Amino acid sequence: MSEIRSLGQHTVNSGDPAETENAATTTTQHIGLAETHSAHNYNPLPVVIAEGDGAWVTDVEGRRYLDCLAGYSAMNFGHHHPDLLAAAHRQVDRVTLTSRAFYTDQFAPFVTALSGLVGKQQVLPMNTGAEAVETGIKVARRWGYEVKGIPADRATIIVAGGNFHGRTTTIVSFSEDPDAYGGFGPYTPGFRVVPYGDADAIAQAVDATTAAVLIEPVQGEAGVIVPPPDYLPRIREICDRNQVLFIADEVQSGLGRTGTVRACEHTGVVPDAYLFGKALGGGILPVSAVVADADVLGVIRPGQHGSTFGGNPFACAMGSTVVRMLSEGPYLADARRLGEVLARRIRGFVGNGVVAARSIGLWAGIDVDDSLATGREMCELLAERGVLVKDTHGSTIRLSPPLVIDEDDLNWGLDQVEAVLTDLRAAAG
Ligand SMILES: *Cc1c(COP(=O)(O)O)cnc(C)c1O
Repeated sequence: MSEIRSLGQHTVNSGDPAETENAATTTTQHIGLAETHSAHNYNPLPVVIAEGDGAWVTDVEGRRYLDCLAGYSAMNFGHHHPDLLAAAHRQVDRVTLTSRAFYTDQFAPFVTALSGLVGKQQVLPMNTGAEAVETGIKVARRWGYEVKGIPADRATIIVAGGNFHGRTTTIVSFSEDPDAYGGFGPYTPGFRVVPYGDADAIAQAVDATTAAVLIEPVQGEAGVIVPPPDYLPRIREICDRNQVLFIADEVQSGLGRTGTVRACEHTGVVPDAYLFGKALGGGILPVSAVVADADVLGVIRPGQHGSTFGGNPFACAMGSTVVRMLSEGPYLADARRLGEVLARRIRGFVGNGVVAARSIGLWAGIDVDDSLATGREMCELLAERGVLVKDTHGSTIRLSPPLVIDEDDLNWGLDQVEAVLTDLRAAAG
């Protein structure tokens, strides 16, 4: 442990002139080439990762960092997990892609396992989270016309302000983030945006054209926003009363992050469709899915929706492994146990450089006092101390370490957050 900590507590400059020059050149070269030859659709922290193991990653110069982002929850099981690697190697050596023109021996086990895990009848597999959302939208519209009888091309879907559902042209059409939607019109019609956490606003927005309510049970990108406890139950009631589908985007909140398979479980709510992604591929390849009963997914018939890569045998093998790990492994219990540590520690930050903090399971958003630092500056200071996190919306830091992190490492990471806050407050006088 102490060795890991001392490795984490590095400074960027080791002080040795020869080593420093080499080291700086390597990182600088990577970043220079990337900045020249890649589009600037991201603004990464200046860390060039070469390897990962568990909750830790190592950069090209041998510095170690505690990964407290975990690929936005795509890496829930950490880096280099032996079970996931074994499953990947096994499947890569057999068959990787056939298209859905044929069945494979990995397909039925995966759709059976995933539907069983969440208690629904059917799975429609895709690749990215955005594709699962797009699929959910298509299913909802088709269901609205065929089952509910909404007049042709009039279906609407109610979504929440502050949402993040992905980056396609349709999905950014109902984003409230000017960076996400600005300059990408014309926008897809058929969406109504109401404030997140406000069930009355949903009740008011529903009418005869409403096919679905599409929401994140916890908003991740918005800063880990946990809605009031009666929010999801009331959405369920409103949907039942008005013959509207309730679609839960669990792409980030699902598969263990909150200590349960579905964040919806915390309030005992069962939506009509779940959208999963991120962790479903075990951090090895993109795997996403819509999971719902046959009366919902049944509206899509052969030729009406699909994907060349969706449901490929490699993806299915990884998805089956993830489902098995969640059912049999310690991950959900660990996320709950470590989540209590996380909740206790972040509560202590409030008033000490942090204006508000929220968490559910092993997932937290802390709003840093913006007179002390921007979120970006916080992330840079934390990286210098060997902790990787990502800011979201101004001065909010999201913490979502892999569920495999051990308690000492989690506490060490939070010690670094505390130390950065202490330094900033001292500097501010
Ligand atoms: C990340 C995310 C998506 C989009 O997933 P991609 O794989 O990046 O397309 C959709 N919904 C939520 C809630 C997400 O967090």
